[in-house]
Amino acid sequence: MTRRCFIAGNWKMNKSVAESLVLVRELRNAISVVRDRVEVAIAPPFTALHPVSKALEDSNISLAAQNCHAAESGAFTGEIGAPMLKELGVSYVILGHSERRQLFGETDAGVNRKTAAVLKAGMLPIICVGETLDEREASRTLAVVETQLKGCLGGFGAAEGAKFVIAYEPVWAIGTGKTATSRQAQEVHAHIRSLLTGLWGADTAQQVRIQYGGSVKADNAAELLSQPDIDGALVGGASLKAADFAAIVKAKA
Ligand code: PEP
Repeated sequence: MTRRCFIAGNWKMNKSVAESLVLVRELRNAISVVRDRVEVAIAPPFTALHPVSKALEDSNISLAAQNCHAAESGAFTGEIGAPMLKELGVSYVILGHSERRQLFGETDAGVNRKTAAVLKAGMLPIICVGETLDEREASRTLAVVETQLKGCLGGFGAAEGAKFVIAYEPVWAIGTGKTATSRQAQEVHAHIRSLLTGLWGADTAQQVRIQYGGSVKADNAAELLSQPDIDGALVGGASLKAADFAAIVKAKA
């Protein structure tokens, strides 16, 4: 089974509309030659989604959002529903990022509800899981990831699951400059795939793309992406500069 490599850039709470449009223009130029081999998505802040969506027209770069609410609409001041994102041309929604888990109380059950909302609106989830440093040092990595995955994915069948993207992001590697070694990452990715096999069967598990995230840069991307179960990357800091992000996209031989 060949899984198409998927590189997504998470801009977090960075970039004004004007800055976003400059970055999109630079990215379109920088990655035009590789875009068929590798799927590319960018997740700007909510405020830039609409103009970035327009700026991505006729490109093969997909638009992603960084979060959404589980309800379609209603009295949820300050929140954004999945249908609102779909209307803007969003294809993917990042759910359960460790910053949302740690800073905003996101839970696996919440991610599960948001996943249903994202699918119902006609988009696909990028579901983030990963252990803290304490959990890794206590040899609990695989158990933590298993609990998160089961909590996030419960209730979804193989037909839906085949389209999901999972991002393994060790919390200790996010924004720290510390990257998991390719061996450490591959071990967890293989475990995730075996859990998906248990949930949905081998055929479906082989279709699911599992991204690695955590200080991915041009100089470590090729090694990580060469691992059999690493099907792409979720990139934070290095997605904010076109040249850096393009170098990661081009790292997949
Ligand atoms: C992220 O926020 O998903 C991430 C992986 O960040 P960074 O690449 O900066 O570590």
